[in-house]
Order: sequence, then structure tokens, then C-alpha cells
Amino acid sequence: MSGRHTTYYEVRDALAAPGCVICRLATRSARRFLESVAFECVNDLDLRVRLRDARGFCNRHAWMLLDDAREPFGAGIIYRDVIRSTIRAASSDSDTGNGRGGCIACEFHDGAIRRYISVLVEHGAEPGLAAAVESGAGLCLPHARVAIGTGGRGLAALMRAMLTVAESTRDPSWRPLLQKPNGETSRVRAGRSAARPAPDEETGDPLIALIVGARPSRWSVADERMGATLCAVCRDGDARVDKAVSVPESTLEPGEASCVHHAWLVHDRVGPVRSRAMFGSIGAALRSALVDAHRALTVAAPLTLGPLTFATRRSRQACLEIARSLPGEPMCGFCRVRDSTIESTQGDPFCRRHALQIGVDPSASIAWWSTIADGLDEYIRKNDYRFRDEARGAEQRAPWLAISAMASSRGRWRLLDFHAAATQGRRR
Ligand SMILES: [Zn+2]
Ligand SMILES: [Zn+2]
Ligand SMILES: [Zn+2]
Ligand SMILES: [Zn+2]
Repeated sequence: MSGRHTTYYEVRDALAAPGCVICRLATRSARRFLESVAFECVNDLDLRVRLRDARGFCNRHAWMLLDDAREPFGAGIIYRDVIRSTIRAASSDSDTGNGRGGCIACEFHDGAIRRYISVLVEHGAEPGLAAAVESGAGLCLPHARVAIGTGGRGLAALMRAMLTVAESTRDPSWRPLLQKPNGETSRVRAGRSAARPAPDEETGDPLIALIVGARPSRWSVADERMGATLCAVCRDGDARVDKAVSVPESTLEPGEASCVHHAWLVHDRVGPVRSRAMFGSIGAALRSALVDAHRALTVAAPLTLGPLTFATRRSRQACLEIARSLPGEPMCGFCRVRDSTIESTQGDPFCRRHALQIGVDPSASIAWWSTIADGLDEYIRKNDYRFRDEARGAEQRAPWLAISAMASSRGRWRLLDFHAAATQGRRR
């Protein structure tokens, strides 16, 4: 009981800041979850076995552990288990890959999204709530889709707010009424790194946020260097993306969209004017899809939104159909360019995913992974207060390298994988 109460007030509080309230709350929950896992894994052996068997986290949450939760020590502990067991499996010719059980952070993150959305669709008709959603620039399309599919008494009010926001984003200079919060910065443990704004504290271009969702993570060039990968496929792919995002106009086919990771990369690289030119037509398509969805909801309203009929099978079905009529997660043009060719060079080391995908002799990869595992041993040893006066060296990069080697380089995830992982225990 009190759990739901808490969630309700969390949503109400979060509506005082701009940007998709579900993106913000769910990312924050996932970050806190990762922080607690990083903290507990030091002593909780069962948790470590579970993480080891799942081969760590999915690509998204593995990097979130370093970039947002800033927990390299926990990452080191977890990934030392993961990397050692992956080496054992690869050396004995058994499956190096998928492990057992899905990403535990996906499961938690997806649960958080559903919990917050059910509060929103249930209470959306309360005074001021939909208006707050509107002044905060609405729900992003991926979360609007889940909200509509969930259905509830407050949905009609939320949909009207969404339509108003979608209209407003026609004007590139439009910004949500609400100001940036001065609130929480990402939870930085003392001495680990400088404070930085959490990704949920900024909204960027509201049109892009509306189409793909809030910026998922933030990292610096220094962070990138820490995990400079030896996997040739990750490296080639990232280099191709790097080139492509500087000239997005000649990369994407007309009307082709991009995933949340690459949409924000383009926005940051070429600036708001050029990125706006690229996402404008997608915004127009989204607006007309929302108009249609709103009309369908109005028609279905007596069926779907009445307090007594809401839970019927027919009403659920109607909501699901309307949700499905909204544009799905697009195939990303930059992911397409990145993944277009996978070179298979004998003798190169690869990350776990690409070693599996390419299926070459894994010995070069195993050699690279073993070096990282040794680095992790050193890194963890030097975290012990007894050795704190020893000079720090290359082993300080080990947690970043381990995640590069076990989870691939950043941004190799799609929302579809995320939902599939959360609901079916599947992971990539
Ligand atoms: Zn969202
Ligand atoms: Zn995950
Ligand atoms: Zn790779
Ligand atoms: Zn992409």
C-alpha cells in the first residue's frame, strides 16, 4: 500500500522538472539500483553468482554503472567474476555467450517504468497533473506507447497534453515552461570524480526528447579513453559512427530515424539547427500519429476509460491496438552503418559479443581478457587500505576495459532489446 503511495508522490514531485517524467524517474531508479548492486556485491556472494551467470549487465546498464552510477570498484568486483568465467567457458569450447538469466538491471528498470506509468495513467485526470506533464514537455514517444497500452482513467487527459506538446515542438525555439531543477546531481562518491549534471537534469531539444526519449547517459572523452577497446569490430563500428554523425544528412536515408543513443550523439555533434532539420519530418509523422491515436481513444473512451469498464478485456485490447498504431522503435540509420560489415580477422582480439558473432579462434581474445582480469586483481588489491600508498598505474583502467571487453563499446543497445530482456529474460 505505502509503496504505491510513495510512487504517487515521486511522480508528483518529479513533474516539477522538465522532460519526460518517466525517463527521468526510471533512469534515476536504475542508477540507484546499480549503485546498490555495486555496494552489495562486495559481500553478497549469491548476487555475484547471479551476475556472473548472466555475464554481467546488458550493454546499456554495464556502461551506466560507470558513466552514471560512477561505481568502478563495484564494476571491478562484478566483472572480475564475469571475465574469469567467460575465459573458462571460452577455453573449454563451451558457450561463452549468453549466460543464464537476463540483465537484472533491465528487469528492475522495466519494472520501474511500468510502476510510474501506471500511476500516471491512473491519476492523469487529477487537477494539475496533465498540465504539469504539458509544461514539462510531455512523455516521450516510447513511454507514451507504454502508457496508452496500459490504459487508465487519466489517459485521455495525458493524451491531450501530449498533443499540445507535439504541436509546440513545431517551433524550434520552444522550450518547456519549467526551468531546469537545481536539484540532485548524479550520486558521486567522494573522491571518485567531479560532480556532473545527471542525464536526467537536462532536456536538450524537446522535439528529439519527444521522439526518442531523454538522453540516456553522459560520459566524457576521458571516460572514453579509459575503456579504449581492442575489439576490432567495436572500434571500426564506432569510427564509422563517429564519421557518420558529423555528416548525418548524407548518412540517413530520407525519413530514416535513429535510436536514442545516436539521436543525442547527432544533436551534440552538429548542433540543434542541423539535428532539427533531420528530425523535423519524423516529428511531423509523430504529430499526425498522435492525432490519430487521440481520435481513436476518444472513440474508445466509453469503453476504455470509464471507471467500471476499464479493466475489461475489450478495453485493454482497444488500448493495446491504439498503442501499436503509434510509430515503433525505428531501425536506426547509424546503427545500420555501424553494423554493416563485420570483419573477421584471424588473430585479432574481440569483445565477448563479437567473438561469439564472428566465431573465430578465441585465443587472441582470451589473451586480451586475461590481461584485463589480471589488471582487475591489481585494481581491487590496491583499493584495500593496506596498499593505499602504492603508486596507481595502468590497472586503474581495468573496470572500463573489462566492460568494453565483456559488454562491447557504448551505445550498442536498443529499447526493443531492453523490453525483450526485461520481459523474457533474454539479453544481448
Ligand atoms: Zn520517456
Ligand atoms: Zn540491462
Ligand atoms: Zn566488439
Ligand atoms: Zn543507433
